[in-house]
Amino acid sequence: MFCRIVSGEVPAEILHEDAEILAFRDINPQAPHHILVVPRKHMDSLLQVEEGDMHLLGRMHQVVAQLARQNGLVDEGFRVVVNTGPAGGQTVGHLHFHLLGGRDMRWPPG
Ligand code: 5GP
Repeated sequence: MFCRIVSGEVPAEILHEDAEILAFRDINPQAPHHILVVPRKHMDSLLQVEEGDMHLLGRMHQVVAQLARQNGLVDEGFRVVVNTGPAGGQTVGHLHFHLLGGRDMRWPPG
């Protein structure tokens, strides 16, 4: 599914786009700000990250921080989640970071 958003085949509200990374609003937001940060390169999950992906993974964190600043989340704080596998709650098999903000988060998460 996210490969189809990356290719432009499926529309999304894009907030960041560069040669390696795309960020767009989640279709079913779980917080006032719910943004998905996705590598263009297909990886099923964190379990497929390789040595050569270190720079990309670092840049994904930079994009999260940039989006947090742009969306006014710095003072209140925010949460970054990477669901992995069925028990982890992953429903889309393309690595993505959830950036959630704009409300108080609970711990432990559900
Ligand atoms: P996961 O459950 O894999 O951690 O997260 C997948 C996320 O992708 C969910 O929060 C879901 O709402 C979102 N999602 C699924 N399909 C689409 C889509 O077509 N467009 C957008 N923008 N988000 C999607």
